[in-house]
Amino acid sequence: MTALQIENIGTLAEGLSGYLEKPQINHVRRAYYYAEQAHEGQMRRTGDPYITHPLQVAGILSHMHMDHQSLMAAMLHDVIEDTGITKTAIKTQFGNTVAEMVDGVSKLSRIKFGSQAEAQAENFQKMAMAMSRDLRVIMVKLADRLHNMRTIKVLPPDKRRRIARETLEIYAPIANRLGMNDMRIEFEDLAFEAIYPLRFRRIGAAVRQVRGNRKEVVTRIQTSLEACLEREGLPGRTIGREKHLYSIYDKMRSKRKSFREIMDVYAFRIVVDRVDTCYRVLGAVHSLYKPVPGRFKDYIAIPKANGYQSLHTTLFGMHGLPIEIQIRTEEMEAMANNGIAAHWLYKSSEELPSNAHVRAREWVNGLLEMQKNAGNSLEFIENVKIDLFPDEIYVFTPKGEIFELPVGSTPVDFAYAIHTDIGSTCVACRIERRLAPLSEALESGQTVEILTAPGHKPNPAWLGFVVTAKARTGIRHFLKKQKQSESTALGRRLLTKALASFGASLDKLSREAVSSLLEQLRLDSVNRLFEEIGLGNRMSHTMAQRLIDLNENPTGAGVGGNLLVRDAQSSVMNYARCCNPIPGDRIVGYISSERGMVIHTGDCNNISELRANREKWVEVDWDPEIQGEFTVEVRVELEHQRGIIATLATAITGAEANIEKITTAERDAHFSIVNLLINVRNRVHLARVMRKIRMVKAVTRVTRVKSRKARKPSVRADNVVH
Ligand code: MN
Repeated sequence: MTALQIENIGTLAEGLSGYLEKPQINHVRRAYYYAEQAHEGQMRRTGDPYITHPLQVAGILSHMHMDHQSLMAAMLHDVIEDTGITKTAIKTQFGNTVAEMVDGVSKLSRIKFGSQAEAQAENFQKMAMAMSRDLRVIMVKLADRLHNMRTIKVLPPDKRRRIARETLEIYAPIANRLGMNDMRIEFEDLAFEAIYPLRFRRIGAAVRQVRGNRKEVVTRIQTSLEACLEREGLPGRTIGREKHLYSIYDKMRSKRKSFREIMDVYAFRIVVDRVDTCYRVLGAVHSLYKPVPGRFKDYIAIPKANGYQSLHTTLFGMHGLPIEIQIRTEEMEAMANNGIAAHWLYKSSEELPSNAHVRAREWVNGLLEMQKNAGNSLEFIENVKIDLFPDEIYVFTPKGEIFELPVGSTPVDFAYAIHTDIGSTCVACRIERRLAPLSEALESGQTVEILTAPGHKPNPAWLGFVVTAKARTGIRHFLKKQKQSESTALGRRLLTKALASFGASLDKLSREAVSSLLEQLRLDSVNRLFEEIGLGNRMSHTMAQRLIDLNENPTGAGVGGNLLVRDAQSSVMNYARCCNPIPGDRIVGYISSERGMVIHTGDCNNISELRANREKWVEVDWDPEIQGEFTVEVRVELEHQRGIIATLATAITGAEANIEKITTAERDAHFSIVNLLINVRNRVHLARVMRKIRMVKAVTRVTRVKSRKARKPSVRADNVVH
């Protein structure tokens, strides 16, 4: 909207002659002189005679080509309020319609949107009623507010801020709801400047600086778009768009985008003659630059709630710069800028009410309907707010406190919004005094009572339905803490038990032993050790054993601090079936959270697959004193002879080894391959056994089988020897 100044009634009348009949213009003149006389001697804070204000308000409306009655009402809008002239007097002079409008605007003027919800609600109700009688009342009111915002600098700072905030919270959304985009933008920027003058100036300066750098790129893109339309024979005008300062600020704040990110987007609008052309232009620009997937929106087929229509698309421009394009007809453009006012702007559509106009009426009628149904005024204001800010719901505590929540919020979100402690201890809720599930989606206007029980804990299932970040964080934090303390307690019990099985106990261990184990494991406290055990990341038996080793041998002589494998049979040490490690083999331990430690040979083919889980691996060594027998697999290739298996068995037992199992893997007329599971004490013992086997005449080859590949690692962990 151009902030064009109307110098005097003559200039205004001149402008009006472009779209109004002479008698109508004369009515407007008459209203002007009437108001001038009524406001005689009154001054604006700016130092100007008071009449300049109604004149400018009428001027704003004339830019939107509003009808003569609206302009008359604009001239007279402060007469009742400020000069004591009655509604009846105006009615006699200018007729009922104008008098009603002036009265409506006056009532709105008395409204002060305070912070008190109740007062605000009543004010909004009045506004809705005035609007419902004649939509033009709100137009006059918006124009009045706009002029006041344009001259807000003369007000003292506190009043300035209050009015600016009210503009941002009430008037800008109303303008938006009525599709009056130009007015909304001006409201937002004027209010932004009044509330945050420094931020406004800083962003303004930054934009001016960037504008210089952008100029070249903007021209280049615009030229290529225009050339493209020309080539395709599509008539239309291409306009470069720039974001207004408040929207830049709002994006930086609410979407956490950097100034650069916002300014790196190039936006254009292509305005064409007909709807059909819009789609052809879309096709043309999509073949000029690649469209960004998922960014195309057809608001022509499905207009926005305020009647806005346009095609939106985003393109990858040169060097991947995003280019946002809006494509619409002249009429849609007028609608997009002036919304409901476009109805008056385009006389051609006078008989057929415009889309925006119809929608605005529907909206106001909806407001009235809500008002009838609302139990109280607070409920009503919340209904209106939902309508203006559709992504939020407003819910009440039983004491009438209002909480603003995102759509889809549940009683748990509400409870956390009140206080984290209320969220954590909530057990049930009443919505409108009815017991309801904690997962029920709340609706605006509802009164919600949260029932708590001291000591109650958040339920992990809540995470499935809460929508607010506050609730989510609160629940997660609690669960994490709870898991921690539970696993610490469990770990302590497990370690105590494991130590007891070695005849030891925690308090009898030296402090040095404990701290050197913590150091080896890089844990900062003994509680962290308990937690690790409780979570199954460390085995209680292994930890107990290491503690005892360190306690007995604080210098850590146990071969570089490695864990020693000292039992052939153990409930926590298992020998992997894939490689069947035996004493003398280089070995590593893999900790399985459910099955304890599995020992593999260092060269087992399967460990490379499990290696990814680094923290699960433990360096281990055989205890030099280790006793017992270990299973090993040996593959023997031999010529088939009668009684050969018996000969083989005799050779093996002759070397003091037990045979666990013999299987014939392959066999033909002359050769057999036999797999043997043999129990041996260590590598030296195995070597002796293999030598004995080799001495059997029919045997051509003996090898130890170290890595079976057939089974998957996870399965293999199941197949452990106990
Ligand atoms: Mn006024």
